[in-house]
Amino acid sequence: MKQGHERPVDRIAARVVGAGVSFEFKISDGAVNSFLPLPTRAPGRAETGQSCFVDLTGTKLGRLTVIGISAEVAARWVVRCVCGTYGLRTARAIKAAAPDACCHQCHVLAVAKRKDLERRTGRLVDVREFLK
Ligand SMILES: [Zn+2]
Repeated sequence: MKQGHERPVDRIAARVVGAGVSFEFKISDGAVNSFLPLPTRAPGRAETGQSCFVDLTGTKLGRLTVIGISAEVAARWVVRCVCGTYGLRTARAIKAAAPDACCHQCHVLAVAKRKDLERRTGRLVDVREFLK
């Protein structure tokens, strides 16, 4: 009788511990993830004077939308994910972004969902399937 009561608790505990261990990568030092809007500014002479400058404001890449030029960090654009997280990207990163581009939060969540599906069903699905 006593074992029957303990098993479900053990199973939940194992799941919680497993979820904690399954995060296989950490946020890199250079990555910016903010839940508060990051300040932007209008393009200045430094940008508009260059013939190669393209205003990327409004550009959509996967889950991300370009909000504007970062007012705080040089040569970075502020992007907003559909989940509400703000981040910084270079123009090159925006132009080269994959159609499933997303913020770090969404990526971590997608990886966790994939691991969970694999653990439950044995099926290994492309992580992009969880970013649709
Ligand atoms: Zn996101």
